Amino acid sequence: MSKDLEAVVSGARIDHLGIAVESIAQSRGFYEALGLRVTHEETVEHEGVRVAMIPLGESRVELLEPLSPETVVGRFLSKRGAGMHHVALHVDDIAAAWAELQARGVVLVSPAIQTGAGGHLYFFVHPKSTGGVLLEICQDPE
Ligand code: ZN
Repeated sequence: MSKDLEAVVSGARIDHLGIAVESIAQSRGFYEALGLRVTHEETVEHEGVRVAMIPLGESRVELLEPLSPETVVGRFLSKRGAGMHHVALHVDDIAAAWAELQARGVVLVSPAIQTGAGGHLYFFVHPKSTGGVLLEICQDPE
């Protein structure tokens, strides 16, 4: 592994699993029945979603409810139905990850590093570069 790659994956772990749902109000009940709790709920206007975070060990489940059918998650739901939407990988240095992946010709979906729910930084990597999974790279708020 090159020095650059080690730097990019430092602090790497699964941060959360993003699950597209029709309704957070309806879907959260399943997780609550498991004894889990929604600890954070927020509307992310620029992504057109309502987000609910459910801590699970050192990771989280992120329920994504579209604000309208014309949003990215709304289109996902009408095409594929509710289910797994993306996997999010936590890194310590998101700027280094962005630069390294771009330099390697990886197809990035996001036009730049964005600020999302809870103030965390993130960008998305296209499924055609990851083996078919929409991958979010994220870093904790500074
Ligand atoms: Zn996410």
